[in-house]
Formats: sequence, structure tokens, C-alpha cells
Amino acid sequence: SKSKGKSQFVRYNDKLGEYVFSQADMINQLRIAIERNEFVVYFQPIVCAKAEKISGYEALVRWIHPHRGMISPGQFIPIAEASGQMIEIEQLIIEECFKNLKLLISLNPEMKYVSINLSARGIIERNIVKFLENLLLKYNLDPKFIEFEVTESSLLNNIERTVEVLDRIKEMGFKLSLDDFGTGFSSLNYLKNLPLDKVKLDKSFIDNIETDERDHLMVKSIIELSHRLGLLVVGEGVETKNQRDLLYILECDFIQGFYYGRPEPIAN
Ligand code: C2E
Ligand code: CA
Ligand code: CA
Ligand code: CA
Repeated sequence: SKSKGKSQFVRYNDKLGEYVFSQADMINQLRIAIERNEFVVYFQPIVCAKAEKISGYEALVRWIHPHRGMISPGQFIPIAEASGQMIEIEQLIIEECFKNLKLLISLNPEMKYVSINLSARGIIERNIVKFLENLLLKYNLDPKFIEFEVTESSLLNNIERTVEVLDRIKEMGFKLSLDDFGTGFSSLNYLKNLPLDKVKLDKSFIDNIETDERDHLMVKSIIELSHRLGLLVVGEGVETKNQRDLLYILECDFIQGFYYGRPEPIAN
């Protein structure tokens, strides 16, 4: 890496083609980013496997830094979670989604929901329920158009409080899905105990579905089990037609991945 101009804390990583922040600098920059709302929401289509039509979109945050360009969530979310800033960022994202929902529907009247990632701290944040109630009123929205994605790892802490909040969120009329399914430790327990509508099968199962018999068998079994529990299944990270076709044969309900579309900013 080479040093850039007057900033001693910024390094340019040639291999990744992106700036590397020190942790302290990142936290400072994030504080400014929150004040100025430098976050943009990208939307990636989630496609009905059978009809091959867009069913909904997952909202994925991008940080557009005024000098350093686009910073991916993998770079800043772990730091924002550790510093506590993720709660504020997430609320900006949620509001942005609510704000954009009518535009998304007008662009694609058949779409049924926007799916928003909710972090561990975001779930147990004291005012989350009130925050969502206020937003529904402010934007005059039907909660059935919003889905929240929670990951298994986000549920490890404070499980009682988490289940309580998720139950409330469901009662309000929002949908709920379990993200990155299969990568955590107590997956089956969560399938049983959380008020879920969907599970999202992690990309790591899909990657080798064509060549690895065991991955294929796992995917098949997870889809069957989920269906028996009354849950819909989304296959994540689908990049090829062959992967799509295999998932369709296994009766996976929805497909998400570069094969159908990358996350993109909303056109206006
Ligand atoms: P995730 O929730 O599992 O989101 C899916 C990630 O996989 C996204 O990465 C998406 O761009 C990527 N992806 C989708 N299809 C494909 C594919 O076919 N191939 C490959 N290689 N990748 C694919 P992204 O946008 O970089 O987000 C990374 C993670 O950051 C997300 O993983 C999620 O955990 C977190 N994240 C993103 N946006 C938000 C947000 O608004 N709030 C919270 N709390 N977390 C977010
Ligand atoms: Ca997700
Ligand atoms: Ca995922
Ligand atoms: Ca993931």
C-alpha cells in the first residue's frame, strides 16, 4: 500500500482497490457520515423461482464517502456494531426504505416487500418498536410490505428479549426471515421458536450445490424441513442458471443472487 496525501491514517490497499481506515478514524468518519447521512440503500431483487418474477428486494447499505468513494458494509458494519453506531445507521436505512417503498412499488407493481437487515443491537434497542410504529404513521405504510432479516449470530445474546421484540414486530404486521441459515449453531431451535415467515439459505450451501453431493442433500433436506414447518425458503448467492435450476427442482421458493441481479441504487 502507498500513502495518500496529507492523511496519515488512510492507507490505500492496492489489492482491494479501496481505502483502509484505522479503527479510530473509521469511528470518526462514521460520526460525520451519520450526521450528513452519507448512506445509500441499494436494492437487490429476490425472484420467485417458479414464475421468475421479482417478488421483493433486499435493502443493502452502501456508504458513499465524499472523498473515498463507496465503502462496502463488510468494511464498516463490524466497526459500527462494536462502537454502537450501527443502531443510528440502521435507523437511517430503515427510514430510507420506508421512504422509497411507494416509488419501488410504482416501478414494479407486482413486488411484494422490501427486506431490511436488522442487527443484534438493533433488535434489542429499547425504542425499536416505537420507532417502527412512528415510521408506519409518518409514511402511511402497510407493514406487510416490509420484511426484517435477522441472523442466527445476532440472536445469541439476550435471546429472551430478542424473541419478545421479534414477536412484537410480527404482531405489528411485519414479516420476518432468518438470514444466513445454516451458518450458526442452533439453527433448528430458531426454526422452532422464532415467529418466522422465511429462511434464507446461506450462499455457502449453494456455491457447490452442483458438484458436492452432500451440499445438495443438505439443501434438499433444509427446504423440505422448512416447508413442513410452514416456512418459505430463499436461496442466496445464486450465480448460475444451473444453480437456479437445481434449486427450482428442489422446490426452493425464491432465488436471490447475481444470476438475477446485483444490488443497485433505485432509479429515479
Ligand atoms: P447479507 O445480508 O447476507 O446480504 C447478502 C450479501 O451477499 C450482500 O453483500 C450481497 O451483495 C451479496 N450477494 C448477493 N448475491 C450474491 C451473489 O450471487 N454472489 C455473491 N458473491 N454475493 C452476492 P453486501 O451488500 O456486501 O452486504 C454484506 C453484509 O452486510 C450483508 O450480508 C449483511 O449482513 C450486512 N448488511 C448489508 N446491508 C445492511 C444493512 O442495511 N443493515 C445491516 N444490519 N446489515 C447490513
Ligand atoms: Ca440479509
Ligand atoms: Ca444472507
Ligand atoms: Ca451473510
